[in-house]
Amino acid sequence: MESVNKIQCPCGTFIEDPGDYKVLYLKHEMKEIDILCPNDACYLRELGYVKFDMEGEKAKFKEASFYPPFVTWNSGRLGFETADKILKEHLKAIVKNIDWERIGKATESESESQ
Ligand SMILES: [Zn+2]
Repeated sequence: MESVNKIQCPCGTFIEDPGDYKVLYLKHEMKEIDILCPNDACYLRELGYVKFDMEGEKAKFKEASFYPPFVTWNSGRLGFETADKILKEHLKAIVKNIDWERIGKATESESESQ
């Protein structure tokens, strides 16, 4: 029963652990962190995002969400309630695992160089 309740990317890759996602901070100006599929060949690539605000030199979490194609896919497979519950747990873990100090510093140095 447990193995059925696995989150899957529409590309076919199963995501068993929130640590499986790739988390990339490229969109400095938008203060947005991308949540990517662990599969490098994934056609969807971006599964969600984490947004934050800067308070002085510190990055402060604002909001996080998965994109509709990924959510819809899993709702269709697992049912909305189950998918919603697991995906929320995943988001929480992703946000918790982010090195906010490093993000804050990266954003700071970026804005200084402009
Ligand atoms: Zn994928």
